[in-house]
Amino acid sequence: MAKVYYDHDADLGFLKDKTIGAIGYGNQGRAQALNLRDSGLQVIIGVHADETHQQATSDGFKVFSIPEASTQAQVLLLLIPDEVMPEAFENEVLPGLSQGDTLCFASGYNIAFNLIEPPNGIDVIMVAPRMIGAGVRQRYFERKGFPSFIGVHQDASGNALNTALAIAKGIGSTRSGVMLLSFAAEAELDLFTEQAFGPAFGQVLLSAIQTLIDAGYPVEAIMMELILSGEFAYSMQKIVEMGFFPQMELHSHTSQYGSMTRSARFMNPQVPQTMQEVLEEIRSGAFAKEWEAEQKAGLPVFNQIKEMRNQHPIAEWERATRQAFHMD
Ligand code: NDP
Repeated sequence: MAKVYYDHDADLGFLKDKTIGAIGYGNQGRAQALNLRDSGLQVIIGVHADETHQQATSDGFKVFSIPEASTQAQVLLLLIPDEVMPEAFENEVLPGLSQGDTLCFASGYNIAFNLIEPPNGIDVIMVAPRMIGAGVRQRYFERKGFPSFIGVHQDASGNALNTALAIAKGIGSTRSGVMLLSFAAEAELDLFTEQAFGPAFGQVLLSAIQTLIDAGYPVEAIMMELILSGEFAYSMQKIVEMGFFPQMELHSHTSQYGSMTRSARFMNPQVPQTMQEVLEEIRSGAFAKEWEAEQKAGLPVFNQIKEMRNQHPIAEWERATRQAFHMD
């Protein structure tokens, strides 16, 4: 059984007398900084002089350049996009790090794939919320919490885990529970969801739409039936709340019989086989290398596929359906 920590396992005292520097003030940066401040901790912000600088200033924070915040803070939360982090770390964060400081990541990616190699003598920890930034803030107010994966990559002080737990408590996560995981496992699970589960699911949805279009049903009815009514999303929410099989009881007997008797036909061995291949590319670091090279080349494949994606008629089908049902 995995180890899960809650509020009573975490002590904000490990952050007392420390200045926390949130590097980046976007989705996670703003939510985490506000929550930590509302938890009574001392937080400063490090950003470039741009829009997020203005936002952080108007939220009442002391805002500095990234090098200045990295120098002043003893606990640094790296909350900028993963793909820009290695360069920003090397040029703007690393020079300000001192022995005894703590570096906290919200994703295992850059450590797992050796894109950032922190110096010795500092703690390197992870507090990776399973929640978008807006939810991090909202659930803090609702006192509900949200799950996170936490990790320790380097424990110079002997207190790295306690610091990770304190940050998790400060952002409101331990109310729900946080699980100890390696940086690599966090990154691999995250990438697998994005690269296997998500695309496989997306392809199934597009296949269903195309099958029904080819069979001559009105596109507005198809889109309403499959997606826009929200019925499917509601069932997904019930899976979260009740469980995969128990939620089936919410559906009619006809629905249950049809679904159970037909599901075996969709057990295509190619799907798990492809998922295994994708997972292997992630775990071997091949994907991280490919993505790094793509960025250095100026994102040619990324932009080309985005362009192709924009040509797909689904946006038009969605627009027509929203218009037909006065959903605009
Ligand atoms: P955002 O894209 O919201 O980060 C935006 C912030 O990063 C802004 O302050 C932006 O400033 C700054 N920034 C962007 N580019 C640079 C750069 N080259 N140099 C310095 N600062 C830069 O990031 P997220 O909050 O989405 O992600 C932050 C971390 O949290 C990542 O590690 C991510 O994996 C993790 N995470 C994210 C989740 C999410 O819901 N988004 C969920 C869980 C974890 P400006 O644009 O003004 O330059």
